[in-house]
Amino acid sequence: MKQLIEFNENGMYVRAADVYIDPWRPVKRAIITHAHSDHARWGMGAYLSQHQSIPFLKRRLGDGIYEGLNYRQSIQINGVEITLFPSGHVPGAAQVRVKYEGETWVASGDYKTVDDGISEPFEPVLCDTFITESTFGLPVFNWPELAVLTHQINQWWQQNIYEQKCSVVFAYSLGKAQRILQMLNPELGKIYVHGAVASMNEACIEAGLTLHTYHTVQPSTTDYAGALVIAPPSALGSPWLKKFEPYDTAMASGWMNMRGTRRRNAVDTGFVISDHADWQGLNNAIKNTGAEQVIVTHGYTAIFAKWLSENGYQAIDVKTAYEGETLINNDSE
Ligand SMILES: [Zn+2]
Repeated sequence: MKQLIEFNENGMYVRAADVYIDPWRPVKRAIITHAHSDHARWGMGAYLSQHQSIPFLKRRLGDGIYEGLNYRQSIQINGVEITLFPSGHVPGAAQVRVKYEGETWVASGDYKTVDDGISEPFEPVLCDTFITESTFGLPVFNWPELAVLTHQINQWWQQNIYEQKCSVVFAYSLGKAQRILQMLNPELGKIYVHGAVASMNEACIEAGLTLHTYHTVQPSTTDYAGALVIAPPSALGSPWLKKFEPYDTAMASGWMNMRGTRRRNAVDTGFVISDHADWQGLNNAIKNTGAEQVIVTHGYTAIFAKWLSENGYQAIDVKTAYEGETLINNDSE
């Protein structure tokens, strides 16, 4: 089996095409799976991504050389065929298929297998080697149905309205924030967003998505009773929250599936909403690629690679700079 994608100190390297996928150090040419900060970093000579990712990349990384591809549109680099397929993670997120001399590898970036209503749904891509994440690669992770989550979040908001409190929900500014915005019933009340979320909302609209009506939190607004505010996790515990008092807080994260996480993070409520695949999602996705070899890049890498090895795959785990979903961080996910 040829090593189409190598792991070196800069990231995932496609030697035959002399291009990197999601490099963590500056390189000449980068293919970017999606615009979260642990996959899309500053300083690349040129960026190639699915075209919906470009408005996000520009807002996060500033001026640069950006080239967009459609899903399923192939390009050739030095005789290597590169094609992007939807990974269902966030708008514009792509798996990268690399084909060369009869060999096919797919680098998934981050992915989820359920349809979130804003991202093009995950598409299984046949390959010989599949490079997967394993952020939630333990059997305990099992996501509720979207309808259940939608009901939970609106019910929580309604209860807070009844108590004349503001509802503050913490969610990553790219992807999850917009997904939650679309889950909310806009007839219940006013929806506000933090400036970081507003910036990503604008990028979504530029990328062609339609979002529910929202307002951006302004210093001059004071009455937030009954309103709902979507803020990045970095706002948790910050003085910025003062203006919403009295309020109730909720965290939207796959980690809310684990006992004790909500309490340890001092939020009132947790919603098990993740943009990553759960245990079943990971296993189904890998099976559907038909891959013989699986390389696990982040999450429960060692445990998950061992599980795969015991189940008929040639599986290894590698060390990378990807973070997956973390609770309180620099908004990477
Ligand atoms: Zn991500």
